[in-house]
Amino acid sequence: MLGIAAWRGGSWASLAAAGGIAATLGWTIRWRPGRLRRRGPAPLALREVLDLIRQAYGASAGWAIGTAEGPFDTPATHDSAELEQRRRGAALVQLASVDGRLHVVRDPDAVYVAVGDFPYAAGLALEGALLDDTSVDRLAAALRRLVAGMRLGEEQSAAPRARIVAGRMARLAAGAVTLEGTARAAVELAAQLTHRAVALVIAGDEPRIIAISSAADKRLGGIPLPHQSAVARAIAFGIPVATRGAEDVFGAGPGVPERRRNERAGTAYPLLDGAIIVGALVVLGPPLEPDAPILDDLGPVLTDLGPRIAAAQAVDEAERRAVVDPLTGLRNRRELERVMAAYGPRASEPATLVYVDLDHFKRLNDTLGHPAGDAALRHVARLLESAVRDGDLVARIGGEEFAVWLPRTPLREGMEVAERIRRSVAERPLTLSGTVYPLTTSCGLACYPQPIGDLLNLPAAADAALYRAKQGGRNRVEHA
Ligand code: GH3
Ligand code: MG
Ligand code: MG
Repeated sequence: MLGIAAWRGGSWASLAAAGGIAATLGWTIRWRPGRLRRRGPAPLALREVLDLIRQAYGASAGWAIGTAEGPFDTPATHDSAELEQRRRGAALVQLASVDGRLHVVRDPDAVYVAVGDFPYAAGLALEGALLDDTSVDRLAAALRRLVAGMRLGEEQSAAPRARIVAGRMARLAAGAVTLEGTARAAVELAAQLTHRAVALVIAGDEPRIIAISSAADKRLGGIPLPHQSAVARAIAFGIPVATRGAEDVFGAGPGVPERRRNERAGTAYPLLDGAIIVGALVVLGPPLEPDAPILDDLGPVLTDLGPRIAAAQAVDEAERRAVVDPLTGLRNRRELERVMAAYGPRASEPATLVYVDLDHFKRLNDTLGHPAGDAALRHVARLLESAVRDGDLVARIGGEEFAVWLPRTPLREGMEVAERIRRSVAERPLTLSGTVYPLTTSCGLACYPQPIGDLLNLPAAADAALYRAKQGGRNRVEHA
């Protein structure tokens, strides 16, 4: 399978790169101090290597995770502003360890660069640096060599394979607290163990794929699965189900993309939390023999994963409830306030806050009834979401009042977004049982730092601008 070739290729490339760094710089990474005896200069601990790279690139802080030494950052700090930076850096490195990608985040006070190869990852923060693409590439290459060295160190250690697998599972549990993070880490681990593409499905009214390993077909992410599929059967009956003949393990359904025949075979292993079936881990390709050695590695992962997925799902659900408005699925006022507070107070980049209020909404409610009013709110919520970019935040902050938070957006761009919102609502009326109801909105907008010099004053300024839009005849945009 292509997936196997890609996996092997990546792995050998890493080994070669790690060998290279050791040869050119004379570094060896100490793995479990005292366990390995080497001749020559005393080996450097991982933390020391990371700190050398940090200094070489003039970075203010560095992070690494994934090894038995545990997650760590460098240099030591007790400064509270720096601790906030540490928190952001650690989260980014966590993400890189799970998805294996290069992450570059340009924040007002620092640029963060992180690379990962599950379960390992390393990252650096560079303060006040305007990193060009070439510097980012060089930095990423250095971090990749470090990460490859972390893997090499572990694989060369005398620890038995079962203990390495158990260790990775434990580190997965310690690091990945979100449902998505746990699921992604689990599929990458299973893919490394089986050398196959792997997907994770959670049970529900409709079983749904929530994570796929890097080698698997990307189009599978997020799709719901038909009830007659092999995966749904494994979840319904709590037993592993392997496909036969040309059957697609994910079933044939409207959401399931057409795939080549050899990519359809697979085995779905149910995941249990006690007696409850929480989902399934799907290993693609021909069925594994019941006595296949890789099942020795996969078995503990399967038993371990069920309770972890259940716990992460419970946390995920609770967090979602805390930040999401149940009627529209938008963020709520509290979440808007949290995100805005996290932006400041000494933000060096501009930001725009837009308040959006439906015009004469009481009339619609009074003539059509409350359920129709609710449908209109959901309709407008979808239009708002499609009018903004990733990274912007749309919240419902009151009955028929919405707010749109546009970080890194100056007044002129903010006005364009608000105007796009106003126009899209006016042009796409609500349709209920075949009848069309026109809707309009008024928008009030306030921008930091020009003319509003304090982020804390944005809400009041946006509110005042909205009031003027209403006074000015509605279906219009005004700014503070
Ligand atoms: P305008 O903003 O243009 O001045 O007029 P309006 O009629 O929209 O203004 P107002 O703010 O006075 O009325 C808001 C109405 O929104 C009151 C209530 O009927 C309706 N509303 C508030 N929350 C909800 C909700 O959750 N669901 C529904 N269906 N209606 C709501
Ligand atoms: Mg209104
Ligand atoms: Mg109102």
